[in-house]
Amino acid sequence: MTMTSYPLPRPNAQTRAYWDGAAAGALRYQCCAGCGHVQRIPRSLCERCQSSRLDWKDSRRTGTLLTFTTVHRAPLPAFKDMVPYVIAIVDMDEGFRVMANALPHCRGGLAIGARVRIGFQDVHGMALPVVEAVVEAAA
Ligand SMILES: [Zn+2]
Repeated sequence: MTMTSYPLPRPNAQTRAYWDGAAAGALRYQCCAGCGHVQRIPRSLCERCQSSRLDWKDSRRTGTLLTFTTVHRAPLPAFKDMVPYVIAIVDMDEGFRVMANALPHCRGGLAIGARVRIGFQDVHGMALPVVEAVVEAAA
């Protein structure tokens, strides 16, 4: 696997603050300075009041597992050595949403509704979010 074949996220104007935070170990989310709305995903305007005054805040990194799936067939050659791997979608306590791979050691505890913690894993020099722990089993 070469570095160039692995599809890494490309930070842009909307997401640069997120990736800068990730590099420093912080999980950031966008919050409107005008109305307080938490954006589920980063945008250039508040999806509720259309304000462009958007702040970035640091998450406590805990959330509830919305859904997850195990990938058995690599969608790209770069992922061939990773299969099988688990992709999870987590609704964070602050109101935003994270899609992340689950680290192998916590896959056994994954269930919809489980409480999980997000951390970061270095992938070719970029800090990518991962589900690093199940902190409480599903009710
Ligand atoms: Zn707003």
